[in-house]
Parts: sequence; C-alpha cells; structure tokens
Amino acid sequence: MDLRLTEEHRLIRDMARDFAQKEVAPIAAEIDEEARFPSETVKRMGELGFMGIEIPEEWGGTGMDTLSYVLALIEISKACASHGAIMSVNNSLVCHGIEVFGTDRQKEEFLIPLASGKKLGSYSLTEPQAGSDPANMRCSAEYDPGKDEYVINGLKAWVTSGPVADYIVLFAMTDKSQGHRGISAFIVDTKLPGLSPGKVEPKLGIRASHTSELVFEDYRLPAWYRLGGEGVGFKIALAILDAGRIGIAAQAVGIAEAAYEAARDYAKEREQFGQVIANFQGIRWMLVDMKTRLEAARLLTYQAALVKDEVKKSGGRYTLPAAMAKLYASEAAMWIATKAVQIFGGNGYSKEYPVERHFRDAKITEIYEGTSEIQRLVIARSILS
Ligand SMILES: Cc1cc2nc3c(=O)[nH]c(=O)nc-3n(C[C@H](O)[C@H](O)[C@H](O)COP(=O)(O)OP(=O)(O)OC[C@H]3O[C@@H](n4cnc5c(N)ncnc54)[C@H](O)[C@@H]3O)c2cc1C
Repeated sequence: MDLRLTEEHRLIRDMARDFAQKEVAPIAAEIDEEARFPSETVKRMGELGFMGIEIPEEWGGTGMDTLSYVLALIEISKACASHGAIMSVNNSLVCHGIEVFGTDRQKEEFLIPLASGKKLGSYSLTEPQAGSDPANMRCSAEYDPGKDEYVINGLKAWVTSGPVADYIVLFAMTDKSQGHRGISAFIVDTKLPGLSPGKVEPKLGIRASHTSELVFEDYRLPAWYRLGGEGVGFKIALAILDAGRIGIAAQAVGIAEAAYEAARDYAKEREQFGQVIANFQGIRWMLVDMKTRLEAARLLTYQAALVKDEVKKSGGRYTLPAAMAKLYASEAAMWIATKAVQIFGGNGYSKEYPVERHFRDAKITEIYEGTSEIQRLVIARSILS
C-alpha cells in the first residue's frame, strides 16, 4: 500500500481545510444548536467541486480518486460533522450509485446536476420496520404498462437530506413474493406529485443535517428512472453502501481529529494542582491512546480508499476493507470523543466547548450505513467464507 500523497491529493486536502476552517467551522456550533440546514455552505461545497469528487468531469464531477474524496471529507467533517453527512450522502450514496448503475440518459439528467452541486441527493433504503434488515421493506413500486410508469406507495424512514433533496435514490419492492430479489432501485424526482416529507427527526447529533421520513402516495415516475434492472435493487443497495462506508469512516476520522486536537490543546492550558494537566501521566496516556487510535483509523480508511480505486478498474468489490474501516474508525471516534470530554472535565459537558458537539456527532457513525454489529456480521462473513 503506497500511502504517499500526491501533489493533487495535498491540493484538494488543503483546499478543503481552508474552506472548512474559514467558512464552516465558524458556523458549526450555531447551526447545530438551531438545527438549521446550511444551504449557503452546501452550495459553496458544490461550487468548490466537493459534491461529486470521484465523478468524471464529463458527468459534472471533479474527476479525482477515492483518496481525494476521503481527504476532503475528513477536513469538512472535522469542522462540522453535519456538512460531512450531507457531503458523504451526495458523493457516495447518490452520485457514485448513479455513476456505476445508471444509464447515460440518467447520468445526463440527474448525475450532472448532482455531481456539480446544483442539485442535492438522498438515499432511501430504511423503513420504520426495516433498518438492519432492509429486505423486510414494504414500500412498493408497481409497474403501469399503459403509461410506462411505476406507481410508488409506502413510508421510508431516516432519510438524510430527505426534506431538502432534489433527487433520491430509492429502494422499493417490485415483487413482494421474491423477498430481497424483488427489490428494485429508482431515482425519485422530489418535484413530482405524490411525495411529501413526513416527520423531521429531532436528533442527538449532526443536527444541521436534516433527516426525515418520506411518504409516497401514488407517486408516479417514468419507467426509465429505474436504476438497474428489476429485482437487482438489493445488490445495488449493498454495493453503494460499500462506497458509503468509506465515507462514514472518513467522517469519523474528521470528528475524532477535531476532538483529539481540542483535548490536546486544552490539556496544555488547563492548570490544576499548580501545573498544566498535560503534565499528569493519566492525561498523557489518554492523549497517547487517542492519537494512536486516530492514526490507525486514518490508515484503515486510506487503505479502503486505495483498494476501492484498485478493484474499481476490474469491477470488483471492496466490502471487507470498507466495513473494517467503518467499524474501526466509528468506534475510535466515539472512544476519542468520550476521552476528550473527560479531559475537558466539567467544561466538556458544556455547550460552550466544542467537544460536547463532537461527542454527540461521533455516535451516529456507529449507527448509520450499517451499525457496528452489522459491520461485524459483514466482516465475519467475509473472513470466514
Ligand atoms: C441520523 C440518521 C441518518 C440516517 N440516514 C439514512 C439515510 O440517509 N438513508 C437510509 O436509508 N437510512 C438512514 N438511516 C438509517 C440507518 O441506516 C439505520 O438506523 C441503521 O441501519 C440501523 O437500523 P435501525 O435503526 O432500524 O436499528 P435496528 O435494525 O432495529 O437495530 C437495533 C439494534 O439491534 C442490532 N442488530 C440488528 N440486527 C442484528 C444482528 N443480526 N446481529 C446483532 N445485532 C443486530 C443493531 O446493531 C442495533 O444495535 C439513518 C439513521 C440515522 C439515525
């Protein structure tokens, strides 16, 4: 594994860092507190090429590799995990899915505006009764041959950017009798009638990213909006999640780095017993373990990115490195953020200091795009097969 960053990698990382620290970090606490969707800075991410980093330029993207995407996403998430969530869904779950499984007509219509950041995307697999077990979904898509359309009915849950998205990669049952082989994927245009956002979730963390239900009532879309063949939606969903998990690992590394650096700097300033608390071995050992886990998480995430780019050429899967990176980085982020709160003492429990937000934000990385338990199932299946 060659981990040397090229000039191009350093360029996008530094560009993302500059934007994140100047334009995102200053508003992060406020948009979190107000649970306000950051439309302006999301638009800026599009203008800077961060919403379709891996998508070829001919399809509206920036035409860079997965490591570039990871480097940029770490910087954005370090400043604000909500921006990281919005960016990662648009890049890995939506643009990547359409790039790999879409037709040229779909790429022309949907991918170009999504990858260039002119439109925003969501990915909708989960339902209230179908989370870790998405094959148990009920949302239906019935083909109407007279009009060459699908009619969609049902309730989806927990859709990141659901209330603000222009296009949604949706999974619905075209043949309930076939179980997971009866699932198909579609691109939903939120402007068409029959779709409304349901409850917007009041959340613990990533509060500036809006997450909602979606209610489909006789929502009709043209048959050519179907992504891939009928009945292959479940395979598409899982393949897209492999890419998504690298994004969540990067988000976790960004949150972890922010928490670690805040705790390190605080420990060098806060005095107790007549000296800075960084002098105490108990604090030092915490910082050492935080830094070591952070760098291990980073390496697993870089590795997953490099493997993805390698196997992409041959159309292969990268399920194992993506799941390991997501599992390790998310648990490292939660652990590091917990220690950061501890190092801040009472101040760590206050909204006046950033580690309280990092602590709340870190938790989601262990839950979405497959919980830690599901990652362990995926990894076990892979290493034991
Ligand atoms: C903020 C947020 C944003 C989200 N965004 C999206 C999105 O954009 N699109 C989307 O489709 N979904 C999204 N989700 C849904 C997310 O992917 C699911 O919440 C997640 O997959 C877990 O499903 P669940 O919540 O139904 O939990 P459940 O599946 O009910 O799991 C409950 C507990 O049981 C454990 N468990 C379940 N099965 C097993 C098993 N076989 N072995 C061991 N333990 C098991 C789980 O790990 C968990 O601890 C989002 C969720 C949140 C909270």
